[in-house]
Order: sequence, then C-alpha cells, then structure tokens
Amino acid sequence: MNDCIFCKIVDGALPSNKVYEDDELLAFHDIHPIAPVHILIIPKTHIVSLSECGNKHQNLLGRMLLLAPELARKHGLETGFRTMINTGHGGGQEVFHLHIHIFGGGGKLART
Ligand code: AMP
Ligand code: ZN
Repeated sequence: MNDCIFCKIVDGALPSNKVYEDDELLAFHDIHPIAPVHILIIPKTHIVSLSECGNKHQNLLGRMLLLAPELARKHGLETGFRTMINTGHGGGQEVFHLHIHIFGGGGKLART
C-alpha cells in the first residue's frame, strides 16, 4: 500500500488547492506556505527524490522546471521567484515524493 501523501493528492484521496494539472504533472499550493505565494510542482508518478532520478527522467524534470516560471508569472511573481528542491533527510526533505517548491511575493526574499 502506498501511504505517500502526494500520491494520495494525485489520486484524489487527499484534497489539494490545485493550480495546474496535465497528464504527467500536478501543482498545488503548499499547505504551510513560507511566502505569500508558495506552490509545489510534483510528477504524478511516485519518484522518491532527485537522487532517484536518472536519464529516463530528463524530459519529466525539464517539464517540471519549465513549469516553474509559468506558474510564477500566473501567480503574480513578475519580479522573480525562488525554487527549491530538498533531497533526502540531509537536504531537509520531509515528503518523499519529488517536488519543486516555487515561492516568492515579498517578505524576507526581497532584496533591496
Ligand atoms: P519538503 O521539506 O521539501 O519535503 O517539503 C514538503 C512540503 O510539503 C512542505 O512545505 C509542506 O508544507 C508541504 N505539504 C505537506 N503536506 C501537504 C499537503 N497535504 N498539501 C500541500 N502541501 C503539503
Ligand atoms: Zn508518492
């Protein structure tokens, strides 16, 4: 049995505040945002982390990355945004289903 939170979101067993979906990818608002805009992009297929990716994931990873500026723009982050991929326990990963954080919108991130 797969008890992965993000797989449950993909399956619709858990709710999410969805902002994008296609056949391979899903994006939704982080439940505990650390910035005014904080979105997660995930693959629909269960991949534990970036460390588990190989050549066969090149296209998927490219698509995930290219979705980031598109979603950032759509959510008003015209002046820029930050991306983060936490990998493994040592990298601060808490949900072991690959995801890219996109966040921004002011506060501590803005530099003068
Ligand atoms: P990470 O440390 O990179 O694994 O971050 C996991 C992120 O997932 C955290 O920012 C959490 O707030 C977020 N998160 C956990 N559960 C949910 C959920 N059910 N819906 C949306 N975001 C979630
Ligand atoms: Zn999963």
